[in-house]
Amino acid sequence: MYRPLLDGINFYAPEWRDKIMQVFADCAEKGIPYDEEMEIITRKGRRVWVRATGEAIRNEKGEIVEVQGSFQDITDRKRAEEEQDKLQAQLIQAQKMESVGRLAGGVAHDFNNMLGVIMGNAELALEKAVPNDHLHENLRDIIDAARRSSDITRQLLAFARRQTIDPKVIDLNKTVEKMLKMLRRLIGEDIDFSWQPFSGLWPVKMDPSQLDQLLSNLLINARAAIEGVGRVTIETDNVTFDEAYCNDHAGFVPGDFVLLAASDGGCGMDRNTLENIFEPFFTTKAVGQGTGLGLSTVYGIVKQNDGVINVYSEPDKGTTFQIYLPRHGRETAVITAKDQENVPVSQGETVLIVEDEISLLDLTRRFLDRLGYAVLEASTPARAMDLARDHKGKIHLLITDVVMPEMNGKDLAERLQALYPDLRGLFMSGYTTNVIAHRAVLNEGVHFMQKPFFIKDLAVKVREALDG
Ligand code: ADP
Ligand code: MG
Repeated sequence: MYRPLLDGINFYAPEWRDKIMQVFADCAEKGIPYDEEMEIITRKGRRVWVRATGEAIRNEKGEIVEVQGSFQDITDRKRAEEEQDKLQAQLIQAQKMESVGRLAGGVAHDFNNMLGVIMGNAELALEKAVPNDHLHENLRDIIDAARRSSDITRQLLAFARRQTIDPKVIDLNKTVEKMLKMLRRLIGEDIDFSWQPFSGLWPVKMDPSQLDQLLSNLLINARAAIEGVGRVTIETDNVTFDEAYCNDHAGFVPGDFVLLAASDGGCGMDRNTLENIFEPFFTTKAVGQGTGLGLSTVYGIVKQNDGVINVYSEPDKGTTFQIYLPRHGRETAVITAKDQENVPVSQGETVLIVEDEISLLDLTRRFLDRLGYAVLEASTPARAMDLARDHKGKIHLLITDVVMPEMNGKDLAERLQALYPDLRGLFMSGYTTNVIAHRAVLNEGVHFMQKPFFIKDLAVKVREALDG
């Protein structure tokens, strides 16, 4: 009885058809009224959300003779609900990432300090060990393991946006070009690598080593996604988002951006994977093959640079990551390559070290002793001030932790400079927190050293700070 009625009606969106048939059948055969929300397609091909309600009409004998119903357009309400759901989901996701980030960042910071002590002590012991001896080998293994662990903590710090950065105005094309050889090696010979720079690219301001981290992580993933031969493309472009675009795309703000995109023709991802890829330790790879830290690092770096990241991927159709970095307004600066070949030593200078982590303070002092510097050490800023007041003679350089309980390193440096106007500064940190600036950036041009460090790093940084 309901068949003729339905045959004339073929405007249901295909995915709703089975459900609608069932509802009408139940009404026409069993007299069950319906009240359903569904999508229909208008004669012009537009999809419209409707609320369909109806009931069976019976004759005097109680037999069903027809179904009477109506449609009400509820498209606007549905769109608003969908929008609301999307925003809600984005908010929950952002909050989750934030709290995971805080946890990871906190652990990584303390852990990083300890690694510094392990690495440094092993290095000092190594110099006393006889080459080819077992002990020598053991110490090398300790240093290697500590270095690998330090890479992991560094990735976590990057995700938590606690990576201390040294941003410079750069031409992304030029910086990527310098990395091409390394990137090609990274993806291997079977994969065709295509580099498509946009000429006239706007400058961006970021730490070039972060760009290195970004691209390495994306390409390592691309390589893993491609089975056998394939192609990876990296391209750049200038992009401007207007108000209208940003209203439709959550996370975007109007303005000029530089696009860096990495695409591969690999295995792609399903929805479930896509929803989780930026979370630290999320991996679909076998134990030992993935850490799940690659994309969380990428995410943290993009956020730290006020950028936006987008992913497009479908199973078997490949993947594209798009990273938008805000355009920077000024001329491009030249990045000077640092010559780190020889270990430079003291020319008779006096150095004041301030570090609240005692074991790290001790280690840094021993490093400096070995390099021939006269060393004053303090475990708190207050003690550093006392030492500086009592000291007879010059203090050439202050090496200080950035984040300390009483006073941050930057303020300490300023106070000490009142006593010693020529005093140079070298800042060190596993990260800088809100104390400095919410985005963890020290003033431009200051000398900075990431923890943990090797004696050679310290030697070079100290000389840079003293001579530069
Ligand atoms: P890992 O590579 O250690 O698994 P990542 O954070 O780098 O961790 O990536 C997380 C997951 O995202 C991967 O395990 C993989 O499932 C997926 N993924 C990332 N990049 C790609 C890509 N280019 N193609 C397909 N899947 C990818
Ligand atoms: Mg990876």
